Amino acid sequence: MTRLAVVCGGSRGIGRAVSHLLAAKGCRLAVVSRNQDTAQATVASLNGADHMAFSCDVSKEHGVQMTFETIQKTCGNISYLVNAAGINRDGLLLRTKPEDMVALLHNNLLGTMLTCKAALRSMLLAQDAAIVNIGSVVGLKGNVGQSVYSASKAGLEGFTRSLAKEVASRNIRVNLLAPGFIHTDMTAGLREEEMVRAATPLGRFGKPEEVAQAVLFLLESSYITGQVLVVDGGLQLAM
Ligand code: NAP
Repeated sequence: MTRLAVVCGGSRGIGRAVSHLLAAKGCRLAVVSRNQDTAQATVASLNGADHMAFSCDVSKEHGVQMTFETIQKTCGNISYLVNAAGINRDGLLLRTKPEDMVALLHNNLLGTMLTCKAALRSMLLAQDAAIVNIGSVVGLKGNVGQSVYSASKAGLEGFTRSLAKEVASRNIRVNLLAPGFIHTDMTAGLREEEMVRAATPLGRFGKPEEVAQAVLFLLESSYITGQVLVVDGGLQLAM
């Protein structure tokens, strides 16, 4: 049976690598991002046919609802949902504008809640489904200049653990993957790159493909739910 996988934030970075790996494993992909052209470009680069691109801002309830209804109508029941859509707005709290706080919480935390809610009915019908939310080690350990980003990702931990309990009886597994520093658009031009390398026992940033392998592991693990998997090269964040 071909499994339908929805990857939010699938147009670039970690989500794009996840889309590639899942397509290579025989899944049918629904790639979601705000920009239709980049989502379409990902779809065009995937193994196999029948994949689809959807333009949707995950922080907007109405659009999320409509998009997931369209996905179910055109592609069928959802087996896998990967929430890799996210933004960062780094800066010390004293300099962080309220609108940036709202944007971080809406895109990173509310967005994942909305897509999970919108996907659940379809996943209940699949009776064997899995969700992987992408958090961050920063949400587990904290980091200077990332207090609000960290809060948005820490919120995902409680959300993931609770939702896992709500839907376990229907054989839907929900886990959180917490990456360290990964080479993507989000970390391009990071001024602290050398510091991060020095704090990482493996001595380098991770690759999106390395995160994708761990996402696949969680999606396929039939007896793991409500857990957090850290993929960070052993990163030690300073006090
Ligand atoms: P990225 O390269 O900037 O890609 C972000 C993806 O999310 C893009 O596809 C983007 O497409 C989409 N997106 C952003 N906001 C969206 C929204 N409101 N609605 C729909 N799509 C949206 O980032 P990345 O590094 O791959 O990060 C992926 C996830 O991993 C994020 O949640 C990030 O916080 C997390 N993470 C990343 C790192 C890292 O070091 N890179 C470390 C820990 C955690 P559009 O712009 O077209 O919408």
